[in-house]
Amino acid sequence: MSDSAGWPFHPRGSTAMILPKSNRLTPEQVSEITAIVGAFGCEIQPIVGAVRTIYAIVGDERDELMINRLEGLPFVERIDRIQSPFKLMDRRSDLSTHRITIGGVTLGEELLIIAGQCTIDPKNPNFFLETAAAVKEAGAHVLRGGVWKPRTNPYAFQGDAKSIDILMEASRSTGLPVNAEVMDESQVKVALDAGVHMLQVGARNALNYSLLRTIGRAVAKRDTVVLLKRSLHMGTLNEFISAAEYIAAFGNPNVILCPRGTAPALDGYRNHPDESITPLLKEKTWAPVVVDPSHSVGKASYVPACALAAVAYGADGLCIEAHVNPSQGIGDDPKQALLPSVLADTIGQAKQVWSLRHSVRSDA
Ligand code: PEP
Ligand code: MN
Repeated sequence: MSDSAGWPFHPRGSTAMILPKSNRLTPEQVSEITAIVGAFGCEIQPIVGAVRTIYAIVGDERDELMINRLEGLPFVERIDRIQSPFKLMDRRSDLSTHRITIGGVTLGEELLIIAGQCTIDPKNPNFFLETAAAVKEAGAHVLRGGVWKPRTNPYAFQGDAKSIDILMEASRSTGLPVNAEVMDESQVKVALDAGVHMLQVGARNALNYSLLRTIGRAVAKRDTVVLLKRSLHMGTLNEFISAAEYIAAFGNPNVILCPRGTAPALDGYRNHPDESITPLLKEKTWAPVVVDPSHSVGKASYVPACALAAVAYGADGLCIEAHVNPSQGIGDDPKQALLPSVLADTIGQAKQVWSLRHSVRSDA
């Protein structure tokens, strides 16, 4: 599911500047720094101002030893390094040509639809099997099903490892790849051993670096895709992208960003809808954005509009909760899940918005 780009990847666009203590270096000083950077395969390019001249290092300027040597020179005031906080996920990284493909869809080329139940009910496996067939029929490319559930109340149902068998049975019967949330190392292992194609990091764990590290390591040599939800309390976009960077840093760049609404909620919605961050994310990162309107607005009747808005904002895909019989579902399904017929209509309309966007955008 990934391309064969080599590892490690290198960022483009980072720069280092030498700021001398004086307004201009003497020819001897220029020779000295030229010799130092030359030993690391770099050159010096003076940038001449009216009063002051600074010196750009041209080449791969990231070697710490070279920087330390330059900083040690008595005539150098400091070295300014302009680097992206996320080297791999940055739009200017060599990785920006990487494409993620799952369920027959290459992100960015076609709208990806992930759909299915919030939670698999181990006591009623048929619901999930029927939902799986119905979401496939409605046009989903990836089937979602909660096996382990993070809950607001610890006494609420937290899922059942037996549901993994139901999830994989549905995958086999529909031929769809499957997504499930994992919250600890043992769940990561069970999910990967069972053949889960997409691991979800839930909103409550989006900044759980030890879980991100565990997942990053576990998927490093596989083509597994990771769907990283945005934290409920996620501060800056850089924090979101950096969390994705941390997973990718272990070797698998198949990380998708999933805005899903943040706290505090917009009065009446479950969260504060945040599909509007999509264009901002896209300015910073090449990572695909798949919006989850279900958790964002939290009520089935609001979901289709939020889904269309997300695509209008430039989302590469949608992750939508759906159920053949929402009122009999568990977890979020009674309030949030779309009926398969509504899901099918929403997908059809979302594809139209997608086509509109891609016919007017030159940067699509
Ligand atoms: C879910 O996908 O069912 C879920 C719990 O999502 P989130 O982590 O975004 O709340
Ligand atoms: Mn849910």
